[in-house]
Amino acid sequence: MSLSGSQPWLTVTSPWDGRVLGTVAVTAPSELDEIVNRARQAQRRWQQVPLATRSRIFRRFADLVLNKCDHILDTIQTESGKSRLSAFEEVMDTARGLRVFANLAPKTLGSSRYPGVIPVLTKAVVHHQPVGVVGIITPWNYPFTLPATDAAAALLAGNAVILKPDSQSPLSAQLLAELFTEAGLPDGLFTVAAGRGAVLGPPLVDKVDFVMFTGSTATGRRLATACAQRLIGFSAELGGKNPVLILPDANLEAAAIGTARSAFANTGQLCVSMERAYVHTDIYDDFVPRLVAATRGLRVGVGHDWNIDVGSLISAAQLETVSHHVEDALAKGATALTGAKPRPDIGPFCYEPTILTGVEESMTVCAEETFGPVLSIYRVDSVAEAIAAANDSRYGLNASIWSQRQGWAVAKQLHTGTVNINDGYAPSFGSHHTPMGGMGESGIGRRHGAAGLLKYTEAQTVAHQRLLPIAPPPGVSNEAFARAMTVGIRVLNKLVR
Ligand code: ADP
Repeated sequence: MSLSGSQPWLTVTSPWDGRVLGTVAVTAPSELDEIVNRARQAQRRWQQVPLATRSRIFRRFADLVLNKCDHILDTIQTESGKSRLSAFEEVMDTARGLRVFANLAPKTLGSSRYPGVIPVLTKAVVHHQPVGVVGIITPWNYPFTLPATDAAAALLAGNAVILKPDSQSPLSAQLLAELFTEAGLPDGLFTVAAGRGAVLGPPLVDKVDFVMFTGSTATGRRLATACAQRLIGFSAELGGKNPVLILPDANLEAAAIGTARSAFANTGQLCVSMERAYVHTDIYDDFVPRLVAATRGLRVGVGHDWNIDVGSLISAAQLETVSHHVEDALAKGATALTGAKPRPDIGPFCYEPTILTGVEESMTVCAEETFGPVLSIYRVDSVAEAIAAANDSRYGLNASIWSQRQGWAVAKQLHTGTVNINDGYAPSFGSHHTPMGGMGESGIGRRHGAAGLLKYTEAQTVAHQRLLPIAPPPGVSNEAFARAMTVGIRVLNKLVR
């Protein structure tokens, strides 16, 4: 259960000030065989543990997360640089998500009986067998809740998990391992393997029975190819360029505050945050100044103060991407209504929330995911144009609609895995009973809900035939059997659904 590995060590520094936070042993690819073998042994015992017992551990874990909230927030914040409120989203999501999974597991994963081919004579039962050992590869932007919720789903389904956290955020993963142990998860079921993705990823994919990945579309595609070669299951949440639609009947003040929040939460380093705003021309001139005011009101900062709205970016590389997207747009004629500048005076990787207008296709920011605090606004002449523009993307992760009356009708026309009406991302992401994931190049498979549990299982149908086989009995000709069955199927089609 502890962090597994040996030399060399990974040094973790804080994005706030470069302070060294700790060191973590790097797992060598040659160690993975032993790690996976240990996981397999533990998994064989674990799959015999009743679902109710497994659920109890994760209910305890959910309570533990709330009880240790401050310590968890401190760890997430110092390692990732995010604001305390953004870190709290992780605590909320984990505590609620694991509780929901724990409650759903017995019913979703328990065996169920279905009508057999011949009523009474055939008994058909479906079991959900664990796949075995699940490899989970997680990014740095939500370093606690993504590993926690993905691992919990796989573990509840009877699997063992090897987690490869991002090299920039292994301490949150380490804390997660400690809390799983404290909640009572048996030894060997959850192992953290730290190291570079390009080094550990391929050998990990070679040994496990299922891969869950969150990260870029390019890496997701590579991993999907490797999983396809081995014919093992793969699920991924990948990039996004999420649209927000502000329609003429929106509550403009709420829309402005909500759009600023959902574009700049977690400093824009959020798969489901908004990067494109389509504003209806009828309310454009009224809405945009409100959005600018709401954005200017966001406090950028570093540290544990709850009053900071927008924290630091995680790294120099991330700052470089954000700066490049904005500078490229400005050089090609876009206008910045807010921000567009780094704030080294606040923290080495801080960047002001930025709203751009006049963005065109030639600009990188137009279609590429920035994964930072940058929102481009486009004026549209109709709701139909807003929908078409929102759908004009290779991605399809999340969308937001601000409207008093048209939200439900417009949502159905959007090509995204989740849609939020009168909010940005939290309602759909936080509704843990429902599936979450992307269409198009934003992913494959879903996390959360029953779908998020069942993907870590193999359905096994067991059918027991009693008294008579489904074949001509002795003394009955094939033709007589076929005639009798024809009558029988007619009756079945009428009576059995
Ligand atoms: P991001 O831009 O969000 O960091 P990446 O796809 O580069 O997205 O990385 C996401 C996670 O995937 C990280 O933990 C990284 O270490 C891991 N990773 C990167 N390359 C590979 C790979 N070839 N195989 C497996 N994991 C990888």
